[in-house]
Amino acid sequence: MKNIVVVGGGHAAAQFCASVLEAGQPVKLTLITEEGYLPYQRPPLSKTFIKDENPQPAWLRPGSFYADNGINVHVNTCVTAIDREVQQVTVNSGDTFPYDVLVLATGTRARMLPLFEGEFSNVFTLRTIDDAQRLRDQIGAANNVLVFGGGFIGLELAATASALGKQVTVLEAADRLLGRSASPEISDYLLRTHRANGIAIELECRADRLETADGVVKGAWVGDRFFAADVVVVGVGAVPNVELAQDAGLDCDNGIVVNEFMQTSDPAVYAIGDCTVFPSAMLGRRVRLESVQNANDQARCAARSILGDPSAYSAMPWFWSDQGATRIQIAGVPDAHHERAVRGNPADGKFSVLYFDGDRLTCAESINSPADHLASRRLIADKVVVDRAQALDTSVALKTLGL
Ligand code: FAD
Repeated sequence: MKNIVVVGGGHAAAQFCASVLEAGQPVKLTLITEEGYLPYQRPPLSKTFIKDENPQPAWLRPGSFYADNGINVHVNTCVTAIDREVQQVTVNSGDTFPYDVLVLATGTRARMLPLFEGEFSNVFTLRTIDDAQRLRDQIGAANNVLVFGGGFIGLELAATASALGKQVTVLEAADRLLGRSASPEISDYLLRTHRANGIAIELECRADRLETADGVVKGAWVGDRFFAADVVVVGVGAVPNVELAQDAGLDCDNGIVVNEFMQTSDPAVYAIGDCTVFPSAMLGRRVRLESVQNANDQARCAARSILGDPSAYSAMPWFWSDQGATRIQIAGVPDAHHERAVRGNPADGKFSVLYFDGDRLTCAESINSPADHLASRRLIADKVVVDRAQALDTSVALKTLGL
């Protein structure tokens, strides 16, 4: 019986366990997570968890799933080393766990700005339930919420705090929101929408220094402008947790390097989810993606490979973000070299930015347009030849193209 040890307790780890069980082969499965919880959904943390009256963790699987299926779960347990020669991992207590196959699903951690070096009781990043709970505990009494970073998590949190009646200011260093992840059309729309909803957004704005007292940040200075804060949230991206793999001598390059079967440079070690950098057949290059879709689909791919039914990873990337009443859905990965055109009218509060490479759709960023998003996934994945005029004509449903 194969002895599989999974390191990590996030989306990828939970899906991997489920996919292995679905295959119905006899295996011994052990899941080791440093968090004090069974795997839960992270997306609600920046959306509903902060503002709901009595939020509960959104478990990815009930506790009975692990117990009934004989999965050995170790929470509050951090894997500190991998010995690839004898095939075992060591955890913080000193205990060791042997493996035939090791699956690294270590995810990412929030990036911190050097400005915040030191201990401040009102400065938060948002990655775990514990982070979200600590933020909840303080945000209720706050008036001014200062958000560093106009990326997905910063904007979701800004919209949530604004819905709670807080005075929210977002400081973004770049000249537009979501500069690394979406088109200028989406950036402009979100800028206008969030500002119209009362969120102050400052672009090209880098704080020079903080005003602090007794371990509390009172605000930030940008030149001679002062931005007051009762609570500070830093949402400036994530760093892949590769150190464990790196120390074990596995290839890493802004992520744990895997092949199309999620196998690392050691055939007995796989890696899945946010922590991996993988060859994308669709994009024709190596990428690291941070999304629930990618974590789940890579988990399925690794399970198949490990259980002797390999098929190369070819899933179409997709992603969503809820920012107040605005739902953004992205199918594919935006490529600045591809031509863009807008389907619909942003003034209506629903539209899609379509990316074309010749007569193929390569990406669609949809605002409050779920039908466009779903149809685009098929058009992109199946590389359907698309008539551009038709694709941009809102009287033609995207789902009818190529049929
Ligand atoms: P994670 O979910 O990060 O899990 C990694 C786990 O490994 C963690 O539990 C970590 O503690 C554990 N771990 C790490 N090292 C060790 C070790 N050495 N020993 C033991 N355990 C270890 N994606 C979307 O598609 N849509 C969204 O709307 C969206 N919203 C988000 C909102 C927030 C606030 C956050 C934080 C993320 C959001 N994401 C969203 C991203 C999504 O949650 C991630 O892509 C997904 O969680 C990745 O799953 P993963 O299993 O690879 O990593």
